[in-house]
Amino acid sequence: MSRPRPQPGSSPGPQPGVAASPLLLQTKAALAAARPALGAPVVLVPTMGALHSGHRALLAAAREQAGPDGSVIVSVFVNPLQFRPGEDLDRYPRTLDDDVAMCASEGVQAVFAPSAAEMYPGGQPDVTVNPGPVGQTFEGEFRPGFFDGVLTVVLKLLHQVRPDVAVFGEKDAQQLMLVRRMVGDVDLDITIASVPTVRDADGLATSSRNRYLSAADRAVALALSRGLRAGAAQGPLGGPAVLAAAEKVIRGEAGLTVDYVAVVDPRTFGPVAPGYAGPALIVVAARVGSTRLIDNVPVVLAAEPDGRDTEGQASDAADH
Ligand code: AMP
Repeated sequence: MSRPRPQPGSSPGPQPGVAASPLLLQTKAALAAARPALGAPVVLVPTMGALHSGHRALLAAAREQAGPDGSVIVSVFVNPLQFRPGEDLDRYPRTLDDDVAMCASEGVQAVFAPSAAEMYPGGQPDVTVNPGPVGQTFEGEFRPGFFDGVLTVVLKLLHQVRPDVAVFGEKDAQQLMLVRRMVGDVDLDITIASVPTVRDADGLATSSRNRYLSAADRAVALALSRGLRAGAAQGPLGGPAVLAAAEKVIRGEAGLTVDYVAVVDPRTFGPVAPGYAGPALIVVAARVGSTRLIDNVPVVLAAEPDGRDTEGQASDAADH
């Protein structure tokens, strides 16, 4: 199952310019058998596959974190636990051959791509991770049970792979915050690293779901990134001005059905306190036809011109 790591000067190694294929592991037993031969540190990138340029940035960051002796392992698993009936579980794109090819080109050592039956042999598990109150807001409000499903599969993957580092995208900011919180709350000795959102040249955040969009849908979807940019530009005027500018663009696009637009404290995902100054996130979720997209951008809020600088109060509030 395992392939020894090439030693300097050893041969035959991969030919220059020819990417070595990663190990393809499809069972927990195969993963367990291959795991001891993976050089440390082991860096995990959890994905649902249909890999695109955003995932590629995670793979490159993971390769960097792993260093010359470490290993990158990518999981490809469309997790049924995080989809509700009527969502796109069945039509979610599955492109394993292309995914493995991208992993090869990014120097990934192993791809773990289990089936749903392999991950959930008893079907729906009885014991799942409760994401707590932040798991009920924003994505959790519009997709009930979503974060229970996400955190359950992430915790399973962390136990199965036992990585030193796991890499997540800032594109899914609430997920990233909740993974960090879970790792802290249950005392996992794993470093969570994050990678800024990758966008296409027109501004649309890359996503496996973008392939559902027609050209007309895509033109509508661009209001999301345009609105986020408009909002971020108002940072010096404070939170309400940021939100107003983002909403004007996003809610002004008739083709979008908006679930939420909000300015949140990235540490808590709660609303920023009135007069708060400091780092924040503008978050948005909306549907274009039947395709649901999420996006966010960081923004630094200045105290509102006639407001108080309450950064200290906001931090205190975040600690409780
Ligand atoms: P997914 O396959 O959609 O579950 O995403 C797997 C990982 O890739 C998650 O940590 C995402 O946040 C990250 N990701 C997805 N799209 C992007 C993007 N455009 N930029 C950065 N990270 C991304």
